[in-house]
Amino acid sequence: MKPQVGVEAQQKRNNMKGKRVLITGAAGFLGSHLCDRFIREGFRVVAMDNLITGDLKNIEHLFKLEQFEFYHHDVSKFIYVSGDIDYILHFASPASPIDYLKIPIQTLKVSSLGTHNVLGFAKVKKARVLVASTSEVYGDPHVHPQTEDYWGNVNPVGPRGCYDEAKRFMEAITMAYNSAHGLETRIVRIFNTYGPRMRLNDGRVLPAFIGQALRGEDLTMFGDGSQTRSFCYVDDLVEGIYRLLMSDYHLPVNIGNPDEITIKEFGEEILKLTGANQKLISLPLPKDDPKQRRPDITLAKKILNWEPKVNRAEGLKITYAYFKSLNKEELNKVEHRSFN
Ligand code: UDP
Repeated sequence: MKPQVGVEAQQKRNNMKGKRVLITGAAGFLGSHLCDRFIREGFRVVAMDNLITGDLKNIEHLFKLEQFEFYHHDVSKFIYVSGDIDYILHFASPASPIDYLKIPIQTLKVSSLGTHNVLGFAKVKKARVLVASTSEVYGDPHVHPQTEDYWGNVNPVGPRGCYDEAKRFMEAITMAYNSAHGLETRIVRIFNTYGPRMRLNDGRVLPAFIGQALRGEDLTMFGDGSQTRSFCYVDDLVEGIYRLLMSDYHLPVNIGNPDEITIKEFGEEILKLTGANQKLISLPLPKDDPKQRRPDITLAKKILNWEPKVNRAEGLKITYAYFKSLNKEELNKVEHRSFN
């Protein structure tokens, strides 16, 4: 793997100095880490978020910077920002099952109408666009690990349909703007990612388990816990996204960590990490919950010279420290998932 520091990185930074990037969903978990990274690379960052699932706390440390601006705006509505925009990262979308079950229409709109607005705006500004797609485009996969040429097994009318189909539409319209208008586009398919600034109450397995461990509750394992996931630490993901944006590859690329684990083993790891005395309890498995998920990252290795560097033990330690630092009020805000 190429070094990420030193002369090459410095040259890249110099080239990017003063370039302007629009990040939608900037106050969310991934969006806020992207803001940090692009500021570090010397960009001027235009952040946009409607704050439905995002939180200004994630980016408040950037507000004092002259090279950072924030617009409270819903990208499902017409977008306009004056001045040059060189790059756009479209990360606005609810991304956890608890969120998209609660707001399915906004979820559909942000990746369909919102993506259309982003692409139209990019065309006006002659900007390069990277859209955040997801491993959910593979649905409950029949191919394992998932390669980019697998078309997926998605239930359009199931509980995940509003998210999965919106993201599939997002990929299709992005490809159409690339072929019909010659727009420079990039598509990242993001697999399960974790790290500081995840919302403790977003219902996803990692914040759910850590929150339960911290509150002294049993850990709610859905089904028998034999379903698998592969968790990528956020810094690795951001590095992969940065490299993809700077590459000349316009077809979808998987970015994730192929280190696969069952949810039961994952729960046991969290109990060990937190030193909690509780146990794992089994609740019904939500409908259409994918049985296994692991990215095949051969393509990312080849074209981006990228692979994850942070192992789960290291990443979980940092993430646990973050959750432990939250105050009691935040820790006790819990939402429960429905199972159909
Ligand atoms: N899960 C669980 N307990 C929880 C939350 C989630 O066992 O409290 C399971 C869920 O059924 C799924 C896996 O953990 O199999 C990952 O769920 P998550 O919502 O984090 O993301 P997904 O990958 O399903 O979108």
